[in-house]
Amino acid sequence: MSVTPEHPAPADLRPETVAVTVGRPPHVPDQPLNVPVHLASTYVAGGDLEYGRYGNPSWTAFEDALGALEGGRCVSFASGQAAEAAVLDLVPDGGIVVAPQHSYTGTVLALDDRATMGRLSVRYVDLTDVEAVLAACDGADLLWFESPTNPALELADTPALVAGAHARGALVVVDNTFATPARRRPLADGADLVVHSATKAISGHSDVIMGAVVGTDPALVQRVIARRSLVGGIPSAFETFLALRGLRTLHVRIDRAEATARTLVERLDGHPALSEVRYPGFGTIVSIVLRGGAEPADALAGRTALWIHATSLGGVESTFERRRRWPAEAETIPAGLVRLSVGLEHPDDLAADLIAALDSVG
Ligand SMILES: *Cc1c(COP(=O)(O)O)cnc(C)c1O
Repeated sequence: MSVTPEHPAPADLRPETVAVTVGRPPHVPDQPLNVPVHLASTYVAGGDLEYGRYGNPSWTAFEDALGALEGGRCVSFASGQAAEAAVLDLVPDGGIVVAPQHSYTGTVLALDDRATMGRLSVRYVDLTDVEAVLAACDGADLLWFESPTNPALELADTPALVAGAHARGALVVVDNTFATPARRRPLADGADLVVHSATKAISGHSDVIMGAVVGTDPALVQRVIARRSLVGGIPSAFETFLALRGLRTLHVRIDRAEATARTLVERLDGHPALSEVRYPGFGTIVSIVLRGGAEPADALAGRTALWIHATSLGGVESTFERRRRWPAEAETIPAGLVRLSVGLEHPDDLAADLIAALDSVG
């Protein structure tokens, strides 16, 4: 990795430094510090890019930075779902995918849609039961999982799952949207591909929809790039610019929001309206379960001043939602489970706002 051609980076730069420095133009007088938004559908022939569906310097800057953080080559997409679709296209016709029962609803919908069409079949598993997951990997083409899971917040034993799945001949894909490379680097644990909804913490400001796939095997990455070029699920130059601007502050945002999440977990513990406070030990997502089920959980929406009732997560603003309001959410998720995405407001203000709301619905 080099920061600029004239200043090669030491190999051991810390991730916080990588996030800020990689993907910048050379340090040339009067040139901008950031790769600008390149609006181009085509390029003068004879170079590497040729056409706007094959490449864009604004994508490359983002891809270099996220790739360096994950430890692989990054390919950006129009959305997390487009990234997911490109990876699922790699499964051969009639293939088998193993995925956790508590996967992101968009993933479940994408898998079930393909299963309904007869493209592939899916085996849903309890991610925390390593033996059951590996038994399901027998004859499978792909093991796909998130850790922590959404919104149950279960953790995977990634090295054990990777080793077992590889021994059975399955590729391993990890959706690292929740953990982010600031907390987990699945490629270092041997995963074949990492998928991101860069819409969430990577861009971090609730104003971008984007996705990414990162891999270490050049041949596999080329197949992902081919899917992007053929299907055309490309990001816009402006969105990759915004996503990279967000990525520059990933570590400070995660550090701060994670500290606040821990404070909230402490202060919510034992609240009479709650039967459970789930936190996987790191990260910015907390799930709380209301004793009274769906009704008081839905009532929270009108009772908070700071916390915004909204789907999605990973922004600077704190948001929450009852996940079972989505019909595709697994029935094993409690009806009263509310997922909190902790942002950057002051922890005392966030705690006071949420506890007052819980007091009023409890
Ligand atoms: C949001 C999300 C996706 C889908 O990403 P989009 O950018 O909305 O298409 C995939 N996986 C996880 C874990 C997500 O949270």
